[in-house]
Amino acid sequence: MTATLTSTPAVVRTIAEIRAAIRAYRAEAGATASVGFVPTMGFLHEGHASLIGRSAQDNGLTVLSIFVNPLQFGPNEDFERYPRDEARDLDVAARAGADIVFMPSVSEMYPTSAATQITVSGVTERLCGASRPGHFDGVGIVVTKLFNIVQPDRAYFGLKDAQQVAVVERMVADLNQPVQIVPCPIVREADGLAMSSRNVYLSADERREALVISRTLAKVPAWIDSGMNAAQLTAAVREGISSSPIADIDYVETLTYPALQPPAPDAPVSVSDGRIIVAAAVRFGRTRLIDNILISLPEAQPL
Ligand code: AMP
Repeated sequence: MTATLTSTPAVVRTIAEIRAAIRAYRAEAGATASVGFVPTMGFLHEGHASLIGRSAQDNGLTVLSIFVNPLQFGPNEDFERYPRDEARDLDVAARAGADIVFMPSVSEMYPTSAATQITVSGVTERLCGASRPGHFDGVGIVVTKLFNIVQPDRAYFGLKDAQQVAVVERMVADLNQPVQIVPCPIVREADGLAMSSRNVYLSADERREALVISRTLAKVPAWIDSGMNAAQLTAAVREGISSSPIADIDYVETLTYPALQPPAPDAPVSVSDGRIIVAAAVRFGRTRLIDNILISLPEAQPL
């Protein structure tokens, strides 16, 4: 067995401390300084670790934030019971290569309720934007606040939340936020289930049934090659997921990416559509899971 040397990241909980730590790093590193930032809600898994690892490769300093943002949860969602485990998170953060972990309290981030809103239109019309009203406004405000606090050169987001990537990219472009967004591929369990902090909610039976999502999405490239149009593709994915008796579909949609608009309805999905996403949100018991496949045409290869 080989021992891996990892250094424990510095843990900071206040905005003043994180600003001071980054200022000190920039002063020391000078012109070569580069700060990578990975915003998360914690309960870290290998998906998060992949973003941290990528940031550590690209940058001199990697800042990880862990903050369960109340503003992006609806009134009947799982804010209160969202899984939290600081000690385990610090272990994953250290192994993945984070230098600083920023873990603010809700009152540190929102000393007063913010009067300012960030609403990104268009890309939020469908998918989670439609089924979780207000969710992306909550994401917009917290990501903007975190960008202003950390002032990173690059920020790393997972394509597991592909709509979130599209929303953040659009917000950064519209507001000239001085940060480069780096989208990262979906990390899956060995059997294909997309990793998610919410997977711990699943019973053994639900966990087994949930595989129907990734198994069905994996068939999408072949279905596109066979000449299906967007409506047929959506119907085929719906049917595949419905083969599980306990899958309760919230949405299945086939859209262009990153605009997240419907492609031409009748023609087969084709090169003129650019990138296509097939995205699904499905409930198993009380747990809502999301997954997607992003296809770059004409090869019909998953990204
Ligand atoms: P969360 O803690 O769920 O808010 O996720 C924080 C970041 O990790 C987001 O950019 C997510 O897209 C990303 N992420 C979550 N799960 C995965 C995964 N399975 N693969 C890649 N990135 C992920």
